[in-house]
Amino acid sequence: MNTIQLPKAIIIIFGATGDLAKRKLFPSIYRLYQSGKIGEEFAVVGVARRPWTNETFRENVKESVENAVSVNSDLTSFTSHFYYHPFDVSNQSSYHSLKSLLSDLDEKYQTEGNRVFYLAMAPEFFGIIANNLKEHGLKDTNGWTRLVIEKPFGHDLASAQKLNDEIRAAFDEEQIYRIDHYLGKEMVQNIEVIRFANALFEHLWNNRFISNIQITSSESLGVEDRGNYYETSGALRDMVQNHMLQMVALLAMEPPIKLTTDEIRSEKIKVLRALRPIQENEVDSYFVRGQYTKGIINGKEVIGYREEANVDPDSNTETFVAGKILIDNYRWAGVPFYIRTGKRMKEKSTKIVVEFKDIPMNLYFKKESDRVPNLLVIHIQPDEGITLHLNAKKAGVSSEATPIKLSYNNNGIDGMNTPEAYERLLYDCMQGDATNFTHWDEVALSWAYVDPISNAWSRKKAAFPNYEAGSMGPKEADELLAKDGFHWWPI
Ligand code: NAP
Repeated sequence: MNTIQLPKAIIIIFGATGDLAKRKLFPSIYRLYQSGKIGEEFAVVGVARRPWTNETFRENVKESVENAVSVNSDLTSFTSHFYYHPFDVSNQSSYHSLKSLLSDLDEKYQTEGNRVFYLAMAPEFFGIIANNLKEHGLKDTNGWTRLVIEKPFGHDLASAQKLNDEIRAAFDEEQIYRIDHYLGKEMVQNIEVIRFANALFEHLWNNRFISNIQITSSESLGVEDRGNYYETSGALRDMVQNHMLQMVALLAMEPPIKLTTDEIRSEKIKVLRALRPIQENEVDSYFVRGQYTKGIINGKEVIGYREEANVDPDSNTETFVAGKILIDNYRWAGVPFYIRTGKRMKEKSTKIVVEFKDIPMNLYFKKESDRVPNLLVIHIQPDEGITLHLNAKKAGVSSEATPIKLSYNNNGIDGMNTPEAYERLLYDCMQGDATNFTHWDEVALSWAYVDPISNAWSRKKAAFPNYEAGSMGPKEADELLAKDGFHWWPI
């Protein structure tokens, strides 16, 4: 019988008392443990400044797991793998004691010198930590060492380049795992399968048969308590530079010759290189920005962005972006990829609509306006699945057509067992699979695309606020498609 090798490693979480660790990382590690994807040969070391003990840390881990996952057993043996090592990451001397703790735990849990350094902290610390890990020999083990970096990766191309240079001084590109949690989502990974495992779609997947592609990622939440962060970011940097462009790349890339990290990345990189650059003086023709004012969501009145905590009452930060992206290659010349994303929109939903070109003549619909093109809808979240919109004969009525839908819903079938994005990404990282993490070239090309847009926007004050909370964004986002003869398909 073949036995699967379970990954063995120490995961060192920098920022272990923070929000991300609590909401995402601890529950994900538990799910890996619960499902047997990791065995007993692992340890987690939490680093942050708070003067907690191992016991307090374990109590917090227990609480966060219980809040997020249905737990069917005592958590004591799971939490016994967790250790807390308080220090300020800019304090050089503390890395020495961390090193000896890791050596002891290596021995105790037989983790063979394998280490995941997970930086769940503000980006200004990434370079400092990476360099101290190298300087103090925490990377010098008999096993593998990997560095996981959270977004945001820079603020523009220049700052991302600087950050990358700092990290690369300590870690090789192959050791760096840049998180884009959208890439851990089941249906985002499914884009590739839907395209490349179905002749029906792949043969039509080009500018001869597709008229446009629409990607919507809407949130109904506002900025919550992250006003400070959001004011320096905005929707363009927070969503478009990473998640939206990654989805564009997956939808537009050529089939890879093999399903390896390098081959897939290289195809995605080619798409990002083919994005038609937008000059600062033409931004208004391609991109629309918005900011929400007060409104009603789920029957409740919510405040406008400028009234939120830690937000400038005269803020010029966009909470909504819509854009038209063009890809200058043989497959996609002339096909617009429309994207839109924002906060405080009507509902939380991420969805891709592929609109096929219509047949040349209307034979079956009474009115031209009743005609509906074929659509392939990929539901990313909260629903996971696909819907194909076709036309079929209206029952009983002579030769008249009616739109029908064929739907596949992932939630009902194995949704309960679908791993959470962070769970999958952590597991991939422990297995050394970097496919669903972003390569530096992808990050750099995405910033190069987005920078002229943010430059143009920072130079000119917008007429904000311009969309009501609970709506689908400003009217200019509809006009962006209308001038090309399209409209957003309802979400
Ligand atoms: P957070 O709640 O503010 O946590 C920051 C952590 O860093 C805390 O554990 C804090 O602990 C620790 N810390 C701060 N300064 C330190 C220092 N000098 N030395 C040691 N520890 C220090 O932030 P977060 O929301 O978890 O986000 C962490 C990272 O993930 C950020 O880069 C963020 O952009 C990214 N991210 C977060 C989310 C999310 O959902 N939260 C989503 C995507 C990306 P002490 O105060 O105890 O030192």
